[in-house]
Amino acid sequence: MTQRARDLAEAGRDVVSLSAGEPDFDPPAHVAEAALRAVSEGRTRYTAPDGIPELKRAVVAKFRRDNGLDYDAAEVTVATGGKQVIWNALEATIDPGDEVVVFAPYWASYPDMVRLAGGTPVIVPPGEGFVPDPGALAAALSPRTKWVILNSPSNPSGAVIPPETMGALAEVVRHHPTAMVMADDIYEHIRYGVPFSTPASVEPRLRERTLTVNGVSKAYAMTGWRIGFAGGPAALIAAMRSVQSQTTSCPCSVAQWAAVAALDGPQEGLAERCAAFERRRDLVLAALRSCPGIECPTPEGAFYVYPSVAGCMGRTSAGGAVLSDDEAFALALLDEEGVAVVHGAAFGASPAIRISTAASDAALAEAMARLRRFCEGLR
Ligand code: PLP
Repeated sequence: MTQRARDLAEAGRDVVSLSAGEPDFDPPAHVAEAALRAVSEGRTRYTAPDGIPELKRAVVAKFRRDNGLDYDAAEVTVATGGKQVIWNALEATIDPGDEVVVFAPYWASYPDMVRLAGGTPVIVPPGEGFVPDPGALAAALSPRTKWVILNSPSNPSGAVIPPETMGALAEVVRHHPTAMVMADDIYEHIRYGVPFSTPASVEPRLRERTLTVNGVSKAYAMTGWRIGFAGGPAALIAAMRSVQSQTTSCPCSVAQWAAVAALDGPQEGLAERCAAFERRRDLVLAALRSCPGIECPTPEGAFYVYPSVAGCMGRTSAGGAVLSDDEAFALALLDEEGVAVVHGAAFGASPAIRISTAASDAALAEAMARLRRFCEGLR
């Protein structure tokens, strides 16, 4: 959808794109300065395969500061984005036929990465408020389960797993010895007044079977810098290092120095950006309430809202498109009103659309006015 929106914009159409999953802010100034310094001081060679010692030290300090997790340097890894961290772990551990439990709606990459690594994704249907359900998790586990992926706050739903539910989910995995937990905490710092919890700190007995994944992309608006990291058992971290060493050699040296500055530097900016995202979420939610056929739960984190478009299914748009599913809805909205969103089928929970709130207030207001006109025009 992002590419289609770009193509339309290049052809001269007036398009508001709410399909991308990245903050529209710049990284903090001290991060850019650290990168420039790294270049001018010649820190531009290959580094250790999974991160310079200085960044590993900063990652160890981050896990202690934010999550109460004590990892040592041999228990942390740095990769080219959170995405490569997840890939390295799957590639290092999955044998053909191994299963990975993924909760819908899910980040679209999880099932495809599992398949690419030779495994089988086991999709669990959405729980109440899009929060994973411990009973449903227990039912999805099998002797072939290798990983359970938990993502809180969630892309695409914005749901945040409450600490007590996280504890119950961890307890289910603890009693299932073949399974490890992949905690994708990449949106940790984007929450709206609700607490954050991560499995290895909620259930320390699961620490040796948990990979705690995070990164600088979303928190510090550093998506293009490509730095992610994780903490986990040393043997797993070593296997992930081998995968990375033979595929990318190391993450970008300059970006690693920038990430040191992001993690070690002032953290006040996180709260400021969160406040901006919360204001935008509220703006979008208020507008959605006036769109006939749309219903939206209130996301508690990340920068997405995930409204149901069930009330619009089977209807016909003003431009004559029959809205048979959420993809037809998203395509008609883009073609007729120039608003790009992503259809829920891409995330395994339909009929819905994902709206990214990582855009300016003006762009969001304009997009919502067009969405409302689109919904009001349905026959
Ligand atoms: N996990 C989730 C849930 C995401 O939404 C994303 C990025 O969109 C990532 C991981 C990957 O982040 P990175 O850009 O650091 O690779």
